[in-house]
Amino acid sequence: MFKGILIEKDEQGYRAALKDIDDAALPEGNVTVRVSHSTLNYKDGLAITGKSPVVRKFPMVPGIDLAGVVEASTHPDYKAGDAVVLNGWGVGETHWGGLAQRARLNGDWLVPLPAAFTPAQAMAIGTAGYTAMLCVMALEDHGVTPDKGEVLVTGAVGGVGSVAVSILAKLGYQVAAVTGRPQEADYLKSLGASTVLDRAEFAAAGKPLVKERWAGAVDTVGSHTLANVCAATKYRGTVAACGLAGGMDFPSTVAPFILRGVTLAGVDSVMCPRAIRLKAWQRLASDLDVSKLALITQEIGLSDAISIAHKLIEGQVRGRVVVKVDA
Ligand code: NDP
Repeated sequence: MFKGILIEKDEQGYRAALKDIDDAALPEGNVTVRVSHSTLNYKDGLAITGKSPVVRKFPMVPGIDLAGVVEASTHPDYKAGDAVVLNGWGVGETHWGGLAQRARLNGDWLVPLPAAFTPAQAMAIGTAGYTAMLCVMALEDHGVTPDKGEVLVTGAVGGVGSVAVSILAKLGYQVAAVTGRPQEADYLKSLGASTVLDRAEFAAAGKPLVKERWAGAVDTVGSHTLANVCAATKYRGTVAACGLAGGMDFPSTVAPFILRGVTLAGVDSVMCPRAIRLKAWQRLASDLDVSKLALITQEIGLSDAISIAHKLIEGQVRGRVVVKVDA
């Protein structure tokens, strides 16, 4: 038996609870992992609270991220004792995930734990941090270098936003951070933001084009915020769009794209090819200051994960949450 969060949906309704789970209930897979740490991402919050239908099979163990040690493997790349990390691939949505002490997975989904990080640090980064790195790489791929001007990060106090601000500042970009929590301005400045802006300025419908300001942007919010960011992006600038914390819609016009040559670069972490994942983790090892990671992160136990997931969805959590699963 092992402890894990189980989401059930039946005639008694949708509910998540910490349970003792039988090993025999684990799904199919060629690698069994003893999970030491997991995390809470926005998607885990949606799964645990049931706010959006991200869970596709029931019962489900949520947790789109995990770090741990291989207990048993028939996969050629992994053997017992190997330290591994997993992000995405539908784990925690269609296949049992990381918010449990044991997971059984397809070894093709795993990456070796990068030598630069402890399991707890890898989970402090988690999907949110690895997505932030993919967004920064998308800006670089489109020629947004620090000399091109200010870059913007929306949803900046959240997990993706906090890591994006930290990486961009370390790489020498001048970073403006958008937040609905002005009381966190000092936090954002400690991560390297030079300007903190109120998210209310971005939240309402705006003009198709406004004065050019941003050389690039990382957007975690979507909806009017993304449209307004595109409208103020400089000629040939790039906006990396990864999130929908403010809404799934995109009420924009083609004007920024056809009149200013702006690129809207979509970023997906879930099915991202392995080679790019490995590159993103290598870049995190070199371009993320681990002392900033400590500022961003709080650690909780598995028994607190459900209540903190509700807070996360209510926008009350700062930065990243690591769940110590083996406590
Ligand atoms: P968090 O909950 O940690 O952060 C979200 C942040 O968005 C909040 O902290 C808040 O920032 C801001 N926000 C919340 N609600 C609103 C709103 N109504 N209007 C404007 N801003 C809002 O989530 P994550 O950082 O983990 O994820 C951020 C987004 O990125 C989510 O939509 C998530 O689904 C998506 N995501 C996508 C991935 C992909 O592969 N494409 C991978 C990972 C995440 P503040 O308090 O500073 O205003």
